[in-house]
Amino acid sequence: MSKEENPELQAQPERTPEAPVGVPFADFDIPQELLSGLHDSGYERCTLIQEKAIPLGLSGQDVAGEAQTGTGKTAAFLVPIFAHLARKKDRRPGEGPSVLIISPTRELAMQILQDAKDIGRHMDLKMLAVFGGVDYRKQAEALKDGVDLVAATPGRLIDYMKQRIFDPRGVKYLVIDEADRLFDMGFVDDLRWVLRRLPRYQERQSMLFSATLGWKVSEITYEFMNLPTRVSVIPDTKTVAQVTQEMYHCSATEKLNLLLGLLKKEDWSRVMIFTNTKRVVDMLTFKLQAHGLPAEGISGDLTQPKRMKLMEQFKKGDLKILVATNVAARGLHIDDVSHVINFDVPADPEDYVHRIGRTARAGAVGKAITLCCDEYATHLPYVEEYLDAKIPVVFADEDMFLPDNTPAYRRPYRPRRDERGGGGGRGGGGGGGRGRPRPGDKPASRGRSRSRRPR
Ligand code: AMP
Repeated sequence: MSKEENPELQAQPERTPEAPVGVPFADFDIPQELLSGLHDSGYERCTLIQEKAIPLGLSGQDVAGEAQTGTGKTAAFLVPIFAHLARKKDRRPGEGPSVLIISPTRELAMQILQDAKDIGRHMDLKMLAVFGGVDYRKQAEALKDGVDLVAATPGRLIDYMKQRIFDPRGVKYLVIDEADRLFDMGFVDDLRWVLRRLPRYQERQSMLFSATLGWKVSEITYEFMNLPTRVSVIPDTKTVAQVTQEMYHCSATEKLNLLLGLLKKEDWSRVMIFTNTKRVVDMLTFKLQAHGLPAEGISGDLTQPKRMKLMEQFKKGDLKILVATNVAARGLHIDDVSHVINFDVPADPEDYVHRIGRTARAGAVGKAITLCCDEYATHLPYVEEYLDAKIPVVFADEDMFLPDNTPAYRRPYRPRRDERGGGGGRGGGGGGGRGRPRPGDKPASRGRSRSRRPR
């Protein structure tokens, strides 16, 4: 599986919008159609990074921005580029795209495309996301038809460049987004390969954004950019003021019982449950479904289309409970989650903040409940040190631990390659094999049950 097809590596950090309280977009010298697009997309005033980067971009300078997702960095580069495009209208037929945005993940590429389509809705621009794993022919056809803007991940982009489907010679605006993640994901050689084939840096405008501008990223800016001006905003990601945090201490074997009790007691509308491992995602999904709860799980094992379908259902509200690992869930940007439940305390304190940041969005009040068991209790001091606060502890009454008499969860049986197909796998294809258990199955024998009786 390539890097671009692996959902675990595709994990995309959460986009928590920063308060846009800076100068109004109307104060910039930008064309009316762009201003209308911003207005119709709900953008009236700048965020900090926008306030800093847009004037530089409008003046044609190269920009190296230190800004994370959630700061409004996408519009910080799109606005100047669109302003230039609106004025120049210089794409000749047969010329390749004039805007190339390189991003580490397909989800980021899709988000960028969506923002570009929103903001550029009144502009006559053809835009496309180019990424691996799906739609090879479709994306190639669209490129051949001619597009103005491409938001691409490196692997598929290189493929199309090698096939001469993507002509890099027309690129006048280059954006490297989340540069540090491109490095983390091992795309540095790919990035260099692409950059070497673009018009020289004097002949294009380049912008780079990265959560941090460390030396590796800075090296790229020196080599491939035209003396970029550096701008920086370090958001206070630890601010999660409107989230009510609670923590329950319990043993690992009682966590499921407590979770069931919490789901009964709490007044929830949409819940995200986070676990530290894929196995627990599968187990919890199975158990919650067995208890008649509308839950689905997202782990890196799911194919991208399935993952996207579940995300859509959850966003629309057709699915109420989503169980996920950190990595699998980072790509989701979902608002209005009433409850985040940390079934496990995460190992990385930043994950705790990311996880609970999914609730209390857009001024709403949310609740983050953490179950701290013996297995992961050692992570807690690091989380609290990072938060610089203690998570308030709540004690559960006996009746908070609901019994679980459903079938025991057994890990799905995955046939070996030579056993696949032909119905000849273990279990004889007669339905009695050790496939993924279904909630309707008969309960497992007592001796095999892992769930404990409530206290
Ligand atoms: P980003 O950091 O580019 O991923 O943006 C985070 C979120 O903030 C996205 O949902 C944007 O649509 C939104 N956003 C960015 N800038 C503004 C703005 N000036 N006004 C309102 N929403 C914004």
